[in-house]
Amino acid sequence: MATTAPTLADRLREIIPPDRVIDDPATLVPYAYDASFWSLRQQRLPDVVVVPRTTAEVAGVVRFADATGTPVVPRGAGTGQTGGAIAARGGIVVSFARMREILEIDRRNLQAVVEPGLVFADLQDALRPHGLFFPPDPGSGRACTLGGMAANNASGPHAVRWGTTSAYVLGAEVVLADGSVITTGGVRSKALKSSSGIDLTKLFVGSEGTLGIITRLRLRVQPRPPARGVVLAGYAALEDTVASLDDLFAAGVLPSTAELLDRSAVEALQRWKPELGLPDGEAVLFIEVEGTPDHVASSVRYVDGIVRRRATVTKFAEAEAEIARLWAARSGLAAAAALAHPDKHRIFAGEDLAVPLSEIPRTIRRAREISAELHIAVIFYGHFGDGNVHSAILVDPSDADEVRRADELADRLHRLAIEVGGTVTGEHGTGAVRQPYMRAEHGDALDLMRRVKDALDPKGILNPGKIYGPDGTPG
Ligand SMILES: Cc1cc2nc3c(=O)[nH]c(=O)nc-3n(C[C@H](O)[C@H](O)[C@H](O)COP(=O)(O)OP(=O)(O)OC[C@H]3O[C@@H](n4cnc5c(N)ncnc54)[C@H](O)[C@@H]3O)c2cc1C
Repeated sequence: MATTAPTLADRLREIIPPDRVIDDPATLVPYAYDASFWSLRQQRLPDVVVVPRTTAEVAGVVRFADATGTPVVPRGAGTGQTGGAIAARGGIVVSFARMREILEIDRRNLQAVVEPGLVFADLQDALRPHGLFFPPDPGSGRACTLGGMAANNASGPHAVRWGTTSAYVLGAEVVLADGSVITTGGVRSKALKSSSGIDLTKLFVGSEGTLGIITRLRLRVQPRPPARGVVLAGYAALEDTVASLDDLFAAGVLPSTAELLDRSAVEALQRWKPELGLPDGEAVLFIEVEGTPDHVASSVRYVDGIVRRRATVTKFAEAEAEIARLWAARSGLAAAAALAHPDKHRIFAGEDLAVPLSEIPRTIRRAREISAELHIAVIFYGHFGDGNVHSAILVDPSDADEVRRADELADRLHRLAIEVGGTVTGEHGTGAVRQPYMRAEHGDALDLMRRVKDALDPKGILNPGKIYGPDGTPG
């Protein structure tokens, strides 16, 4: 009797327990998607998904992948917007759904050690009783994992004052392409800073699973400011928002957030929640300050006095319930966009430009012109304090011509970002989607990135089809 050759899944079941190796086609389907429009348009199924519980299991899987030349793609929660967690060339997806423990919270030493599948919000909840928090705060924080955040160098509204994930990864345990395991940032270190050796932690943070697979993170955490206050300011012209921010900097104030709502976003939010009473104008700034209660009370008034010079209207919120309500509304922008355009879907494409602060008005004005020219509905908003302009493009996915125009819009937005001295992605990463812009943005440095990739992953098995190429036009 002829025996059939063992499948990839059969062989992986010899490495990790069978119930954590998935190859049933129906169960594989969710792994063909993340939040990117790219992934929604063509299904790219992995051959198999493994769900390890330990670093040793991850290393065993990678050793097998190395021996067989099989692609390996790490996956957190799949909330990425660039196709990063999609097995573009098939192979093995390594899901971190079962590696989500908090291994240590060390309050005195201001750090925590976690597994990569831990969800951001679960870390925050665990830190709160210790009076601590983890500052990078992506809008997807209730779902996304710390591993995904480190891999993408994620951030959020508070990056203006607190910085991005990269600033908070002190060290990482990483499975390399041959299955060996290293610890960056010092094998036994609990130091909060280091000048020792090449900073390998920084090399892996932001490398999107293409240089190694993170199996543990040593994170810096911070004392949680006990109070916060918000100033909302409406402006007659976009240019006044930049001038206002400049006034704040000149007065020595670095707010913890400075969020921008373009007129399109204000209109959508007003339609969704008129009770918010957002100020009118071409743009609204949402400025938050943090500190002790006394400090916040005086800072809010100080900031208000400064922004009044340019804003047509201001108001401030100091009660925590009111501030939480405002943030909830800001986070609900997607729902508001859907209500404003009920026949369309918000897609994630060309959504993450980051430009110099001085170029924000020109960028938004030009982006509005391009979207009008292409007849595509867009809502603009962003983390204004660090120049991160988000565009919520709305399309009817069944309308092929509209989709083609949306593709053109996303392409032109990416090129616009580079033209004004910015980047095609402030926080969401390159993934599959933004590879065509890497040459224009990085010049010859892209070749060095490729050499680093080749040195660390000579067989090209780690998350192939991401970041490094080909040069050219977007597919
Ligand atoms: C509604 C919405 C709002 C969002 N808001 C923000 C925001 O405000 N700021 C922001 O920065 N992003 C935002 N994002 C994008 C996304 O949530 C972040 O990029 C997040 O960090 C991805 O985490 P994840 O666990 O979902 O990762 P995944 O999507 O699963 O993976 C992302 C990348 O990380 C790699 N990866 C995952 N785990 C590991 C690991 N253990 N080792 C090595 N590589 C790994 C994957 O291969 C992939 O390349 C948003 C997304 C959505 C859908």
